[in-house]
Amino acid sequence: MTPIVAENIEKIFFPGYKITNFQFIEKTCFLSIVPSYEPVCAKCASNQVIVHQRRTVKLTDCKIFGYNTILEVEVRVLRCKSCGKTHVERIAIQSKHGVMITARLEEEVIQEMEDTGSIKATSKRLNIGWDTCKKVHKRYLQRPYHLT
Ligand SMILES: [Zn+2]
Repeated sequence: MTPIVAENIEKIFFPGYKITNFQFIEKTCFLSIVPSYEPVCAKCASNQVIVHQRRTVKLTDCKIFGYNTILEVEVRVLRCKSCGKTHVERIAIQSKHGVMITARLEEEVIQEMEDTGSIKATSKRLNIGWDTCKKVHKRYLQRPYHLT
């Protein structure tokens, strides 16, 4: 990927992250991304933090050019020198409903479920688990202002 392509993809799809690697294995694209911003304590907002540990979390994202996409996201465990707390950084692009997919894919699941009404078809087309589809759609239907 040329720098200009990578930069634009990062800016549009993964704000706050930098793509460090990508590879196609059969029909799946694996993209490795790492945070590109300076870490800040989520408890006291101090920037006097040290990266205690780095972990990798796998998130399923929307397809790219027809390829299933798996993001390998670096998550930092931060220790704050100001307040002494340790915490794991949140992934801003992840669904907020406890499923290992991106917020963008979550929108697609909801749209697809509304269009087809089929968990089976949706999970197959978007390459995610049946239970993930069901969970996402159930949450959507339970939203306070949702009108059927
Ligand atoms: Zn702190």
